[in-house]
Amino acid sequence: MPVPAIIIGGGPAGSAAAITLAKAGLKPRLVERHMAPPRGVCGGFLGWDGLAALDDLGIDPWALGARPISRFRLVTRGRTVTADLPATAAGISRKALDSALIDAAIAAGADVTRGRAARAVDPLARTVRLDDGEIIAANAIFLATGKHEMRGLARQFTHSSVGLRASLPPCPPRLDGLAGVVELHLFDHGYAGLLMQEDGSANLCLSVSSDRLSQAGGIAALLSDLMSEAPALSARMADIDPPHFEAVAGVPYGWRARRSEDGVFRIGDQSAVIASLAGDGIAIALTSGASAARAMIAGGSGAAPDWQRRMNRESRRPLGIAEMLRRGAAMPLPRRAMMELIRWVPRLGTRAAALTRIVRD
Ligand SMILES: Cc1cc2nc3c(=O)[nH]c(=O)nc-3n(C[C@H](O)[C@H](O)[C@H](O)COP(=O)(O)OP(=O)(O)OC[C@H]3O[C@@H](n4cnc5c(N)ncnc54)[C@H](O)[C@@H]3O)c2cc1C
Repeated sequence: MPVPAIIIGGGPAGSAAAITLAKAGLKPRLVERHMAPPRGVCGGFLGWDGLAALDDLGIDPWALGARPISRFRLVTRGRTVTADLPATAAGISRKALDSALIDAAIAAGADVTRGRAARAVDPLARTVRLDDGEIIAANAIFLATGKHEMRGLARQFTHSSVGLRASLPPCPPRLDGLAGVVELHLFDHGYAGLLMQEDGSANLCLSVSSDRLSQAGGIAALLSDLMSEAPALSARMADIDPPHFEAVAGVPYGWRARRSEDGVFRIGDQSAVIASLAGDGIAIALTSGASAARAMIAGGSGAAPDWQRRMNRESRRPLGIAEMLRRGAAMPLPRRAMMELIRWVPRLGTRAAALTRIVRD
């Protein structure tokens, strides 16, 4: 007997879909390969659209200790500009956020299996094979594997970036001026983002093009180059043991799923990968997960192709603008022009931040 829906992946997209389906009485099965949410490669910036999506799902990030953020700061060698965000955002660790989401899915009635991975999907037969050989037949498949490809439904792309993340332990003087701010250090072919998390530590994440990493000859060599290229970042990291970095490769910024098969909903990063500089990936994951689930509740598994086309249309503009900003920030001349514009007219920075958000249905 097929289950009503199988969700592969228990990140924000998968959990949002599971909560929404379960609350409607469709008991979904969710399979997550980790026993407990890992810290994961993410900046931990949750925009106002993400906060609204969490509210819809019944989750209060402030109760989890999220830190409010109202401004962003861009830093390059010798220059710093600051602008207001369009609305209050939050800084929170992915461990705290993902745990709360998956717990909410279980509480809503989803059947959650942790510690097992899906190995392959057969979209025509609508079956999913798990790592222990179990085959699950489902009326609908929600693909929510985020940054990871799934055999049978893999994304196709040519250019990609690498993401790195580490925690900087709490130490007030070094983290001076980080309260209420997300700080972005811009350099050639990438950036580093810093913000305070719920436990007072700082989340440091870096994104660089795969080419720059391979030219540097590895993570240690890249970091050493960056310490001279980005002195303000180097100062933030002074006097601490080299942090342990988690890494993810093959991040295809700007990629969108143009279509999907009957019965297959691609959600979160499997539907659209916005430049991480924009800090909207979690919001896209939450909104797409919940919206795909609502489409299935209203129209059954056959609603998938139409929903996917709509998601593709709605994500085109914010992804396009975020790509423009990412590419500009990664090159010396456009980066300098961007910094000057925001220095003289900070409202332009606020407006740019607003334009990279996805519209909610
Ligand atoms: C460097 C970097 C910084 C970023 N910073 C930010 C930020 O500050 N703010 C923001 O909003 N976005 C940010 N993002 C984007 C954000 O991380 C993603 O958009 C978001 O995590 C997507 O959520 P998701 O649920 O689609 O996927 P994920 O969060 O990747 O979750 C996928 C889940 O699926 C599970 N999984 C994978 N494969 C399988 C399998 N085969 N079987 C079972 N389970 C599986 C994984 O274990 C994971 O739990 C950043 C991205 C990068 C690369």
